[in-house]
Amino acid sequence: APPALPVLTARHLHVHYGGFIALDGVDLVLSPGRIAAIVGPNGAGKSTLFHCLAGTLRPARGSVRLGGRDITALPAHARTRLGIARTFQELAVFPSLTVAENVRVGAEQGRSSDAGAVERTLRLLGLDGPVRALPAAGLPTGTLRRVELARVLAGGPRVLLLDEPAAGLDTAEVAALARVLKALAADGTALLVVEHDLDLVAGLADVVHVMTAGRIVASGPPERVLEVLETEDGR
Ligand code: ADP
Ligand code: MG
Repeated sequence: APPALPVLTARHLHVHYGGFIALDGVDLVLSPGRIAAIVGPNGAGKSTLFHCLAGTLRPARGSVRLGGRDITALPAHARTRLGIARTFQELAVFPSLTVAENVRVGAEQGRSSDAGAVERTLRLLGLDGPVRALPAAGLPTGTLRRVELARVLAGGPRVLLLDEPAAGLDTAEVAALARVLKALAADGTALLVVEHDLDLVAGLADVVHVMTAGRIVASGPPERVLEVLETEDGR
């Protein structure tokens, strides 16, 4: 398929914490139907970049555009309304609400809150059985990750940002997650995944960006970029 026009464009992002430079001029483009991954060592700036895209951090310099619109100054909740959804590395669900209620809240916070979205999303994530009526508190991590993903998907995002979505999942759950993310991309969603699990990245991403010390130092298809990484690691 011909490359689609970018939906999210970050240009020359700079972030510093006091005198420490966390992002040193990062450019990134996300396109509909494509899965981009960010990999790199701890402290590279992956989460800082993620926060700049989600709107939880304002860069000192640089811009973030959604479609034609400059959203650099927009806070996170306003970006959610415009269709940028994110999940949290630390799970963020309402413990006292049921699975279905959590997903309904997500539908209301998002871009489109059509009546069928909650049911469709529960089905997509395999949460339409008896579990839908259970309070989120006490559910296993794998289920909670699906609830969180369902919560943000119910809002009908155009851009989905995922920080370590495979953390705490077993092999079967990771495979199921990969299937869901690919289905979303096939549906036209633009995805960005920050992930430690290089096997997941290799099987999932269309393009991988390697970050080191606040910069993107390599970008390309996983078979090329990850091979270089593994060689450098001596593995
Ligand atoms: P990654 O997600 O790649 O591990 P981060 O974006 O979390 O990296 O952090 C990049 C660097 O910025 C790290 O050296 C980290 O210690 C530092 N850092 C992150 N957040 C803050 C903060 N709020 N204040 C000071 N330094 C921070
Ligand atoms: Mg991080």
